[in-house]
Amino acid sequence: GHDDWDVIVIGAGAAGLMCAITAGARGRRALVIDHANKVGKKILMSGGGRCNFTNTGTTPAQYLSANPHFCKSALARYTPADFIALVDSHGIAWHEKELGQLFCDGSSKQIVRMLLDEAEAVEVQVRTHCSVGDIRRLEQGGFVLATTSGRLACESLVIATGGLSIPSMGASGFGYELARRFGHEVLPTRAGLVPLTLSGKHLERINDLSGVALDISAHCKGVAFRNRMLITHRGLSGPAILQISSYWRPGDELRLDLLPGEDALAWLQRQQHERGAAELKTVLSEHLPRRLAQRLCEVWLESRPMRQYTPAQLHDIATVLSAWPVVASGTEGWRTAEVTLGGVDTRGISSKTMMSNTVPGLFFIGEVVDVTGWLGGYNFQWAWASGHAAGSVA
Ligand code: FAD
Repeated sequence: GHDDWDVIVIGAGAAGLMCAITAGARGRRALVIDHANKVGKKILMSGGGRCNFTNTGTTPAQYLSANPHFCKSALARYTPADFIALVDSHGIAWHEKELGQLFCDGSSKQIVRMLLDEAEAVEVQVRTHCSVGDIRRLEQGGFVLATTSGRLACESLVIATGGLSIPSMGASGFGYELARRFGHEVLPTRAGLVPLTLSGKHLERINDLSGVALDISAHCKGVAFRNRMLITHRGLSGPAILQISSYWRPGDELRLDLLPGEDALAWLQRQQHERGAAELKTVLSEHLPRRLAQRLCEVWLESRPMRQYTPAQLHDIATVLSAWPVVASGTEGWRTAEVTLGGVDTRGISSKTMMSNTVPGLFFIGEVVDVTGWLGGYNFQWAWASGHAAGSVA
């Protein structure tokens, strides 16, 4: 009938649109449905409106998953160069900001426009305002979906409903519930790439420094990120903190190197030698934001003329500066998280095709899967690559 499709994709985000385009290019009749009023809302809001659409340095090492090998196959078969070629073929201008991160010169709207043009070119249909209720798998294969736009049937069903972050943008637990209903394990989800909150005295000691930003290296569980940090009125943010937040769990030790790339002890010894009369807080103020330097000397360090410190004291100061202990109480949660860690267990899915190992014809792609990238365009690259992998066979 009219609403029988080869492929139905639930979720018109980055992964779902890429999957449908790839399937459509193979001559498959593909329909993408989304309950939101427009497609690709996260693409639109991404990268501050300019969409950090990939990272040229993408490797499997920039992804968190219970199975770090799972992402390899798809990432190898659809690379940043493949996506850049697509962007170029639509005449979209882009630039590298830093660390391999590519952004549109203009607007992330161009990426959504490109995906919709590609979809149209291969006769993929996209339906918004469409919610799915019951989903049944037929004995002879294929699926029947009860939706707000009627009964739909398909041979292949692709779940691309994303994660739980930013509920106001249409995020839902739909994909996880559906996975469970079809017998898949779902690993516990938590907010990633998210600001950290502090509480009590830990917050009171720094929250009036809200707005202060500096380069740091954040260390947690043997992982380190060097980038900017921003002090906020609730705790800490900025790229270095967002990155480490994906590794940090409540109770974990978190240390910040406030002089990244510098041997703190050697630096202090040099200051002592060259300017023994200068006070520590003066010397620190020249290297760190002044208000932070002063606060460090009020709470964690004792400011005296440099020449008065013993070698053991200099050593202690170096430890505070290179491994400043931060006691975070939690994260800002789903409201501001960029991604969802955890999700559909990769052990139940083929890494080549993204198809369920137990339910033929059912696929999971994008953020709903337990694969989460670092900040910097890696999450979109996973969405493109996993969408392409599924679209090549669905
Ligand atoms: P999504 O893009 O979230 O798409 C899922 C779609 O499914 C949505 O359209 C949603 O409406 C739909 N949906 C959900 N539930 C249902 C349902 N029950 N029925 C029907 N439809 C449903 N990553 C980067 O790589 N670079 C960036 O610059 C970047 N910036 C970001 C900025 C912000 C503020 C946020 C929140 C995230 C950012 N990310 C970025 C992460 C990136 O947006 C996601 O990893 C990516 O969008 C995931 O793609 P997806 O297709 O799996 O899911």
